[in-house]
Amino acid sequence: MIKRVDLHLHTTASDGTDAPETVLNKAINAKLAAIAITDHDTVDGYLQLKDKIDNCGIEVVPGIELSTKYNGPCHILGYYIDCNNDELRSTLAQIVIDRDERNEKSIRVMQEDGINVTYAELKERFGEVIGRPHLAEVLVENGIVPDIKAAFAEYLSKGKKYWFPRTTLPLEKCIKLINKAGGVAVLAHPFEYKYNTEKTLAGLIEYCIDNGIKGIECRHSSHSAGEMAYLERLADEYNLLKTGGSDYHGDPKPDISIGTGKGILSVPYDWFEKLKARANK
Ligand code: AMP
Ligand code: ZN
Ligand code: FE
Ligand code: FE
Repeated sequence: MIKRVDLHLHTTASDGTDAPETVLNKAINAKLAAIAITDHDTVDGYLQLKDKIDNCGIEVVPGIELSTKYNGPCHILGYYIDCNNDELRSTLAQIVIDRDERNEKSIRVMQEDGINVTYAELKERFGEVIGRPHLAEVLVENGIVPDIKAAFAEYLSKGKKYWFPRTTLPLEKCIKLINKAGGVAVLAHPFEYKYNTEKTLAGLIEYCIDNGIKGIECRHSSHSAGEMAYLERLADEYNLLKTGGSDYHGDPKPDISIGTGKGILSVPYDWFEKLKARANK
């Protein structure tokens, strides 16, 4: 059987709805050979798995997904980071503080609109890293909108009533932070950035390379077969590692499965082996 991997997974430690152990079990059931836990701004999901991954038959990589901007939202993945790296830990703690400040602004306006919710409740229920998907869930539960998609479209997207900006790290800082923590930095899902036409993509990639990026996430649930093939050619052209993953979140994105994404996703084991070799160098 051909070995496959999934290098982009979210858990309840950030805005996924499956506990880390559930994600691990689903990956084992999907017969994957390796996975990476890439929660937003936290390594807690990976750490919760640490004593369960020995002899579980699947390799589990510590990862992270950091938010930044490059003419709009842009995400950077980090693999094989040292979860105990001081600078990483203190930077992630500051990101959570920035998230809290942003979220509290949203919650205040929601309360003014009569929605019965407190931020303390959300922290208790969802943990340290609260994102807009959690706020979206509150809006759905309160009958304000029918689903998560509508919550973003009507209230939580940029410029909407419950949207407030949050501070993100500069792109070069994200890459350097991952490198300093011994990790391998990868540009996440390049075609998810709406401004990224094929023409401007080269500019982003070259900027990332200048700042120490090592790979491109070529295969992703949101990318078409043509886009994925195009990114693979780009990665080869720039001599970058190729990675891929489903970006599984559980319930908020019910059409995405671990390992197979929306059905056509398939990430080869040898991409993972090259990533691992690079991390061990
Ligand atoms: P935050 O980092 O808290 O601002 O939230 C960003 C996260 O919200 C992204 O990583 C996505 O998972 C999710 N998200 C952003 N836009 C949408 C959307 N239109 N529909 C559903 N989820 C979204
Ligand atoms: Zn997410
Ligand atoms: Fe992302
Ligand atoms: Fe993601």
